[in-house]
Amino acid sequence: MGFNASILTLYPDMFPGHLEYSMAGRAIERGDLNIEAINIRNYALDKHHTVDDTPSGGGAGMVLKADVLARAIDALPDDNRPRLLMSPRGETLTQQRVRELSSGEGVVIVCGRFEGVDQRVIDGRELEEVSIGDYILSGGEPAALTLLDAITRLLPGVMGNVESGTYESFENNLLEHPHYTRPQEFEGQMIPEVLLSGNHKLIADWRHKRSMELTTKRRPDLLTRINDKKDQK
Ligand code: SAH
Repeated sequence: MGFNASILTLYPDMFPGHLEYSMAGRAIERGDLNIEAINIRNYALDKHHTVDDTPSGGGAGMVLKADVLARAIDALPDDNRPRLLMSPRGETLTQQRVRELSSGEGVVIVCGRFEGVDQRVIDGRELEEVSIGDYILSGGEPAALTLLDAITRLLPGVMGNVESGTYESFENNLLEHPHYTRPQEFEGQMIPEVLLSGNHKLIADWRHKRSMELTTKRRPDLLTRINDKKDQK
């Protein structure tokens, strides 16, 4: 079966983009990941295939037309996949949401362009707005590729070392510990000795401690999330 992503975009050639490479590329080859990019412009009915118009009320830029986008959405199979709209106004993507999405059958992703899309199609088709961070891209496509990248590495069978998924940054609301590899000495800096000790318990303790230190220093907000979770239990 595989995970089915349908992307609605004005630039279908941007897909699968970088997902053609490495782990995601192999997932596509195996059929574990299917990416279908659909050109929204195909659903514009007028002679010039118009997809945008000037904002009602005035102002700069153009707005993606509700009727055209709605037709593109309605042409999709009627299934239960979440319908997402990449949008800086959405809730910021988290590893937890990525994990939820990756455990489903797929996603529909609408990529905005210009000033954005007509509000009535967001409401009428119940699109969930998803942001990838507090900055503005010129279009939803790189955001969609980012989301799909994060989803893909969690799909069953995609990541070579299954364990490596569960200790990454954010998985436990902690930033990951530092990594080292040979040579033992680099420009006078040594690999921390405990990592060469072969004592798994000591190594795990050391890593956890470094994780806590890093998180406390750089992202104390993540620690608050752990405590909130504990409180809910
Ligand atoms: N005028 C809008 C920004 C439009 S940017 C505003 O101020 O909210 C054009 C398109 O790029 C958006 O419709 C969205 O699909 C995409 N986009 C821009 N920044 C994004 C972000 N941080 N996350 C997800 N999508 C983004």
